[in-house]
Amino acid sequence: MTAPIVIVGAGQAAASFISRHVALGGEQPVLLIGEESHPPYQRPPLSKKYLLGELERDRLFIRPLDWYAEQGIETRFDTRVDAIDPGARKIITANGDEIEYDTLILCTGSSARGLPDAIGGNLPGVYRLRSIADIDTMSPEFEAGRRLLIVGGGYIGLEAAAVARQLGLEVTLLEMADRIMQRVAAAETSDYFRRLHSAHGVKILEASKMTRLLEAGGRVCGAELESGETIDADIVLIGIGGSPNTELAEAAGLDCDNGILVDETCRTSDAHIYAAGDCSNFLRNGQRIRLESVQNAADQGDLIARVIAGEDVTYTALPWFWSDQYDCKLQIVGLNLGHDSTVIRPGPNDDVMSVWYYAGDRLLAIDAMNDPKAYAFGRKIIEDNKNPPKEVVADPETDLKAIAKS
Ligand SMILES: Cc1cc2nc3c(=O)[nH]c(=O)nc-3n(C[C@H](O)[C@H](O)[C@H](O)COP(=O)(O)OP(=O)(O)OC[C@H]3O[C@@H](n4cnc5c(N)ncnc54)[C@H](O)[C@@H]3O)c2cc1C
Repeated sequence: MTAPIVIVGAGQAAASFISRHVALGGEQPVLLIGEESHPPYQRPPLSKKYLLGELERDRLFIRPLDWYAEQGIETRFDTRVDAIDPGARKIITANGDEIEYDTLILCTGSSARGLPDAIGGNLPGVYRLRSIADIDTMSPEFEAGRRLLIVGGGYIGLEAAAVARQLGLEVTLLEMADRIMQRVAAAETSDYFRRLHSAHGVKILEASKMTRLLEAGGRVCGAELESGETIDADIVLIGIGGSPNTELAEAAGLDCDNGILVDETCRTSDAHIYAAGDCSNFLRNGQRIRLESVQNAADQGDLIARVIAGEDVTYTALPWFWSDQYDCKLQIVGLNLGHDSTVIRPGPNDDVMSVWYYAGDRLLAIDAMNDPKAYAFGRKIIEDNKNPPKEVVADPETDLKAIAKS
């Protein structure tokens, strides 16, 4: 009997692989192994509607549990894979089971970084936000009037800040860099979101480094900053980014460097092993890059199913991303890496605008705030490699649709 395709990590990339494998009528058996108790689910609502209490847990699941069995997909949840033996082509689970594979797909995702225990990272009342279990433990603490301190001004911290304000908590957000979103966006986008959160009563402290969390009565009670200032808090949420889950791959001798290195077909340095999603580091326009986004995980999972089915395809998808904060929908297309200038395209009011990133005259990416047209037409413009002059984009009278369709 042929050994199965084994997938390690039951998340977004795994679900996408399975959907395409089934759609292509793939006959090779598939075994999906995940350490969480759930079938693959969407993580984006965790810091948005699920935390807000506006989305039922069942709505998070990408497919209902029964679907997998109906499609002949074998699943094992609550099961951690501890090791890979690439020579023998088998994996070893935490409870000692050894399972042979024909092809192995690593979809192990990333982990939310924490703070060292020595500075209070493990105190009761300190949370991270990555999984359903994280939210289910944290959300009972989200009561109106309580003081939430968020460490980190990236997407997850800002989304959680928005939910917390909607639930009536007092929110302070600390960012060590000079501005929130510094790692991911231009200053104009940071300015937009600083304005938005300040208007909703979030106290944002930028260029503010936390030195340690403070404890009283056996739980966190605040934080001390490098300046000597202290901030009182009832709950602390750490949102300082993610690290790729590469331990398995590294121990198995696969090439890794900020993720599991894959080629343009998502194959790792071992011909029988693929990697997809947050854990993979791939080549794009000659540059190595690792993305943490639904689009990337879904497109890479999908691609691997096609490659295994014998299609001659490579990974060239245009990255896109979104974030929801209060009533603002941010949509991003392209990658702003290497930009040397930005252009603002104003909207009819202050809530609507887009930021266009250029490298020389080449358009790389767009951040569209409450501007679905700038996103949709901009996306088409980038896909078609059109590079409208900056002054044309900056003119609110310019018809983007006409450029996209030209
Ligand atoms: C709170 C939050 C909000 C987000 N919001 C957005 C958003 O708005 N837009 C967007 O595009 N992206 C968003 N993302 C990112 C997006 O959810 C991820 O990029 C995506 O889930 C990655 O999919 P993946 O399959 O690589 O990993 P995951 O979906 O994380 O799945 C990986 C799974 O592998 C399991 N695993 C790891 N190691 C092992 C092992 N050894 N054995 C067994 N199982 C293992 C993990 O427990 C996990 O269940 C958000 C992420 C979070 C956490």
